[in-house]
Amino acid sequence: MDLSPSDATTRRRRGLLIVLSSPSGAGKTTISRMLLDADDEIAMSVSATTRPMRPGEHEGKDYHFVDDEVFDQMIRDGEFVEWANVFGYRYGTPKSPVKDALREGRDILFDIDWQGARQLEPDFGEHLVTIFLLPPSMSELEHRLRARGTDSGEVIADRMRRAADEISHWAEYEYVLINDEMDECLDKVRAIIASERSKRVRQTNLVPFVRGLIGPEH
Ligand code: 5GP
Repeated sequence: MDLSPSDATTRRRRGLLIVLSSPSGAGKTTISRMLLDADDEIAMSVSATTRPMRPGEHEGKDYHFVDDEVFDQMIRDGEFVEWANVFGYRYGTPKSPVKDALREGRDILFDIDWQGARQLEPDFGEHLVTIFLLPPSMSELEHRLRARGTDSGEVIADRMRRAADEISHWAEYEYVLINDEMDECLDKVRAIIASERSKRVRQTNLVPFVRGLIGPEH
């Protein structure tokens, strides 16, 4: 097949499905936001949930907020790539943005829990990059939760119990980072993404590119 020089020099790649999990308060939201702001090849997956909207959240941006009936229908219609019960509410990842991103060679970032990461593995394992963020200590985690100033003592105690539960799944992830210092942690996440994108199997235009460099006989 003849490729014009512009085709041969185009660098194309397969998209990544980047799962970032952590207990609440370990810095996942901040790191996700910073990643997205600086890299327009990554889009955030917006989940559907039956959890009520919290102050400051927006429909379609933080979640698609739906009732139980709609969630049931979405399950029946096969609209989720995964869904799970997380502490009393249901959360699910819509299928079509994932399919679109993979077809177009773009990346998607998922803020989902260990149950979601586990369910993506069988169908999307070759595209998956799983990263778990640990807090430097439980007292620092509690300090960060209190510093938000949004939750009562009871809610914080509950979040600490949930955090221990989420952390207990750390060993199911490929990459585990201790989020001691935010900028350092963000750099590490970026380095992981850069190296995952550079894997030979993910670069789909290398053969014509290299032929353009050294000729077709090699
Ligand atoms: P929150 O209610 O605090 O926004 O989220 C609670 C937990 O649900 C977080 O650990 C978050 O990662 C997880 N979560 C959010 N969306 C999904 C989803 O679509 N699937 C799964 N499995 N977990 C999710």
